[in-house]
Amino acid sequence: MNIIVCVKQVPDTTEIKIDPETNTLMRDGVESILNPYDHFAVEEAVRLRGSPEEGKVIVLSMGPPQARSALMKCLALGADEAYLLSDRAFAGADTWATSNTLARAIGNLEFDLILCGQQAIDGDTAQVGPEIAQLLGVPQVTYVEKIEVVEGRKLNIHKQTEEGYQVVETRLPALLALMPPTSFQPGIPPMSGILKAKKKPYTTWSAEDLGGDTSKYGLDGSPTQVIRTYGPPKREKGVIFDDEPETSAKKLAAHLFDDGILKKGE
Ligand SMILES: Cc1cc2nc3c(=O)[nH]c(=O)nc-3n(C[C@H](O)[C@H](O)[C@H](O)COP(=O)(O)OP(=O)(O)OC[C@H]3O[C@@H](n4cnc5c(N)ncnc54)[C@H](O)[C@@H]3O)c2cc1C
Repeated sequence: MNIIVCVKQVPDTTEIKIDPETNTLMRDGVESILNPYDHFAVEEAVRLRGSPEEGKVIVLSMGPPQARSALMKCLALGADEAYLLSDRAFAGADTWATSNTLARAIGNLEFDLILCGQQAIDGDTAQVGPEIAQLLGVPQVTYVEKIEVVEGRKLNIHKQTEEGYQVVETRLPALLALMPPTSFQPGIPPMSGILKAKKKPYTTWSAEDLGGDTSKYGLDGSPTQVIRTYGPPKREKGVIFDDEPETSAKKLAAHLFDDGILKKGE
């Protein structure tokens, strides 16, 4: 089975702060990592592929040249080939332009299955996977935690829901957006994988290499724009009542009456 995994390099959002003056993200000095959802997708793809004779795992990313390190990590985790879509013409892309660019690249490759992360931890829109599926006209399943291959061209999929799990069946080709279980911890690739990664095929495609309608890429192909990024307003310090329970309850009630949250008779 040939599997394409779309992976995004993201800033480690646990490190990101918002500049209080400009209200923009402070990315300087923040480490870039492989989106953890995509890390899970790569591990699943390598498991599903079976032996290298049975198929291959291709990892695909749109991003600046630095995104190479995320792709090299995927190769070290067992992916077979990597493609980086990198060109100034792709800059300023919103989710629609990103999806158009990735879908065009996927259309140039042979695939049975496309895997995406459910969401990227920076943009967090969860739109790119479903948009690619729509553009390529393949079925999609989101919130996927577990995949089983049945009868070669059919998949049994366990998807998360608010109540528990649903098991759905789909035929290939298809696109799945993966949601790792809460127990998932992105591990470090083994040293042998890191050494092998350097010898695996790695290709960079520009907008010209990609072909297609270039007005659909980058800023030109983006119908939406970010106007402002800002954090939630700072919450005021809360009041703590730490007397005996009865006294604390009385003080709390008095506060609620004073603030007009509770009214006499309630
Ligand atoms: C209005 C708007 C304007 C933007 N302008 C800019 C800008 O000027 N410059 C800029 O750098 N970013 C910009 N972005 C961010 C960029 O477009 C998004 O990060 C990108 O479209 C992916 O969206 P997301 O991060 O929400 O991914 P999601 O939809 O949450 O990601 C889901 C999955 O899709 C796949 N995926 C997502 N992005 C990529 C990728 N690049 N390569 C491979 N696979 C991917 C991954 O599998 C990922 O797990 C903008 C976003 C918006 C909404």
